[in-house]
Amino acid sequence: MEHKNLDYWKRAALAFQFEGRSLIDGELAPIDEVRAFVDRSPVDGRTLAVVGECSELEVNAAVSAARRSFSAGVWSGLNPRARKAVLLRWAALIRANLDELALLETLDSGKPIRDTLSVDVPGAAYCIEWFAEAIDKVGGEIVPADNHLVGMVLREAVGVVAAVVPWNFPLLMAAWKLAPALAAGNSVVLKPSEKSPLTAIRVAALAIEAGLPPGVLNVVTGSGDTGHLLATHDDVDCIAFTGSTNVGRSILRCAAESNLKRVWLELGGKSPNIVLADCPDLARAAKAAAAAIFYNMGEMCTAGSRLLVQNSIKDEFIAALLAEARAYEPGDPLDPATSMGAIIDETQLDRVERYIEQGKREARLLTGGTRERESTGGLYLSPTIFDVSDPSCTIAREEIFGPVLSVLGFDTLDEAIELANGTEYGLAAAVWTSDLTTAHEASRRLRAGTVWVNCYDEGGDMNFPFGGYKQSGNGRDKSLHALEKYTELKSVLVRLR
Ligand code: NAP
Ligand code: MG
Repeated sequence: MEHKNLDYWKRAALAFQFEGRSLIDGELAPIDEVRAFVDRSPVDGRTLAVVGECSELEVNAAVSAARRSFSAGVWSGLNPRARKAVLLRWAALIRANLDELALLETLDSGKPIRDTLSVDVPGAAYCIEWFAEAIDKVGGEIVPADNHLVGMVLREAVGVVAAVVPWNFPLLMAAWKLAPALAAGNSVVLKPSEKSPLTAIRVAALAIEAGLPPGVLNVVTGSGDTGHLLATHDDVDCIAFTGSTNVGRSILRCAAESNLKRVWLELGGKSPNIVLADCPDLARAAKAAAAAIFYNMGEMCTAGSRLLVQNSIKDEFIAALLAEARAYEPGDPLDPATSMGAIIDETQLDRVERYIEQGKREARLLTGGTRERESTGGLYLSPTIFDVSDPSCTIAREEIFGPVLSVLGFDTLDEAIELANGTEYGLAAAVWTSDLTTAHEASRRLRAGTVWVNCYDEGGDMNFPFGGYKQSGNGRDKSLHALEKYTELKSVLVRLR
């Protein structure tokens, strides 16, 4: 077998055929050259593809195709076992095309090839398999009622689902929406981010190859304007969104002003990672704290961007953390040895750099803060850590969505919990302690959708619902609870006499 080193992936990248057309009603849609945009790679700035910017006409065509296929019952009307078979074939095709999809994701988004090969692509396939395997095992309910009634509660597909997803995990976030929505029998219009649209187009083509009827899964490419058209559309029954809190707010508003479509939001975070002095393993905690903020260039909604360390161990812990941060010096994303890749685009890099400048004014820079590898034409930042004494300062409050960590000290657990919860977000939190009671009590007091104890970012299993408290959103992805987003409950009462 050929050794898949940097040269191998570079050669494969040169040979790649990129597809930037939308997929509507089973066909690749022609690109309107006037409205099209260029998709560049953050790896080295090269042009990957010309991508269509879908207009109202194309969004309407995609929604109509979804509605037609839904009403015709070509998918929604199948025995769940039949949907399962198609979804499993689709997942198998994704696995069979692992190298191609991982390379595409890496080129389009700057993520290290090591991660797209091990997390993004297999994670997407696993998610599709999981919901495929679940869907012929979940039924409705027969509920207690008058003796002369049969009371049934049916769970039915909601209809046409719009999924609008971000660029940090383009394929995986799409899979988290598509798998439960399609398994439940819905028809879907997917809008990937303009910064990373290519894997969405490719996997939708694979879905059709697997036997998904045309119109059941459509991909409309374009900017936020295309997403806005879906949010305001009167024939979209439900919109599932992952992205920023501001856009989430706008989608809620659009739903209120149009057809009151169901809105499900997975938004940002400023997640606290609390290390108490009785932490069972400081070395492991330091490694996890670095991964919590530097994995995926910090472009993580669950990034452990606020590290709260008990003051009695703070200096010792920071020393260990600084050593661990060195493992994340950015490298070529196509090199399998690289653990930190490129920042998605110039706009995001500028934004992160503005936060770093702000941080230098309000906190103490411990490491990083510099642009790296500029000669490559790509967009890279060194892992950056600030020692923060004032928790109300900007970098300790706002989501940066980059490799920038704020370290804060505290004396008591009560103080740590207050700091941890003192944010508008509530996506995730972690606590490190050897004390069983502290672990359980802290888990209960932390206002977040996920709490990790003595670990961070654990959760590869589909069984854990994922989503936010407070302004981190509503509803849950993953687990059987995700089906609640994409189904309606119907009470059917049959009077016998
Ligand atoms: P974003 O700007 O909100 O974009 C997310 C998606 O919405 C993209 O497809 C975007 O299209 C589209 N969009 C932009 N404006 C829109 C509008 N007015 N109406 C409808 N759709 C619109 O977020 P991002 O900057 O790409 O992603 C970073 C954010 O996502 C962070 O805040 C992060 O915390 C959050 N995030 C959350 C989770 C989670 O599960 N909770 C996971 C990942 C990321 P374009 O990109 O083409 O403009
Ligand atoms: Mg791109």
